[in-house]
Amino acid sequence: MSKYADLLNLPDAQGHFGPYGGRFVSETLSHALEQLEEQYTRLSADPAFQAEFDKDLAQYVGRPSPLYHAERWSNHLGGAQIWLKREDLNHTGAHKVNNTVGQALLAKYSGKQRIIAETGAGQHGVATATVAARLGLKCQVYMGAEDVKRQAPNVYRMKLLGAEVISVESGSKTLKDAMNEAMRDWVTNVDDTFYIIGTVAGPHPYPLLVRNFNAVAGREAREQALQQIGRLPDALIACIGGGSNALGLFHPFITDDEVEMYGIEAGGEGIESGRHAAPLNAGRPGVLHGNRTYLMEDDAGQITPTHSISAGLDYPGVGPEHANLKDVGRVKYELATDAEVMEAFADLCKYEGIIPALESSHALAFAKRLAPTLGKDKHLIVNLSGRGDKDIMTVAKMQGITL
Ligand SMILES: *Cc1c(COP(=O)(O)O)cnc(C)c1O
Repeated sequence: MSKYADLLNLPDAQGHFGPYGGRFVSETLSHALEQLEEQYTRLSADPAFQAEFDKDLAQYVGRPSPLYHAERWSNHLGGAQIWLKREDLNHTGAHKVNNTVGQALLAKYSGKQRIIAETGAGQHGVATATVAARLGLKCQVYMGAEDVKRQAPNVYRMKLLGAEVISVESGSKTLKDAMNEAMRDWVTNVDDTFYIIGTVAGPHPYPLLVRNFNAVAGREAREQALQQIGRLPDALIACIGGGSNALGLFHPFITDDEVEMYGIEAGGEGIESGRHAAPLNAGRPGVLHGNRTYLMEDDAGQITPTHSISAGLDYPGVGPEHANLKDVGRVKYELATDAEVMEAFADLCKYEGIIPALESSHALAFAKRLAPTLGKDKHLIVNLSGRGDKDIMTVAKMQGITL
């Protein structure tokens, strides 16, 4: 029996993963979250709801996504075989749509007519606007004013999809402030509004339901590995922003003790520089956005600014389940610096003809380090969480090229 069997029972009834998670919110919100939890528990046991979710994943998202053997890159690195779980091939180009399709279905079944979301780089905002358009629901997306400026193409995408983007002027005018505003909106409008959170963070039950909606990737990968490799992989690797693509891949393997797992945080310019987004490697436990988890904060308990080359990893917290997986030692949390990420990005373009997202390139950067230390008979699965078309301007700028 697996020594990690207990992890399958988490979160507990209060939403705790060990000492992390929970529901640190006002009474109004607490009531709304209880309703959501009750609805989710009921629907996740309802075959009709599951069938509709599966149909949407197949026909709208385009699942299953392939498990692809990156043979030429593996040969070049001269060690373990690298396999890519191709979440970049999903509709809208990343894993995020798995979750927004699931939560939009919850919204539909609850009869709520309005959807809100927070977004940082705009990827979750676009994935939410997409599903809202499909269901004909009104959609408003909170986005920090700084991000609205930096991510103009995604702001325009959301508008094309019929969503309204609300620019947030408070605090550092970035993702954490957008999330605060979205929660404030939800408290006031909870009767007709469904709040779609974009990662495995926030108060219970969000970390649970976002993980479960994303776990389709891990279930597929497990089956594909058994068929294509003939056994389970030796290790799984995924990047960590809030941690949803990683948990989606990891969770269905959690009691396969022989499968190692690596979550890769944004090392930015290096831990010593202070310019990174690595709460699990360099932060400490605290409370943010309704849950207890590892955070980047200063001695006075103030959240410190984050930095990453990839906007999607630029978050000062991390999902509470990861905090627990770190403490119990089931997952190892490592770093990739901006410079390593650029090299891995270039490798995948050159050796495989795939332009990866800069977020996903963190996982690739670690695979590039790990693979040569292992034999050719070892197998690694890397979650290719998204495609990199959105990032070519950033890469060009890093290379000193003006487009
Ligand atoms: C948003 C995003 C991430 C980071 O979010 P997680 O919740 O950590 O998965 C990673 N990759 C891509 C492509 C993204 O858009």
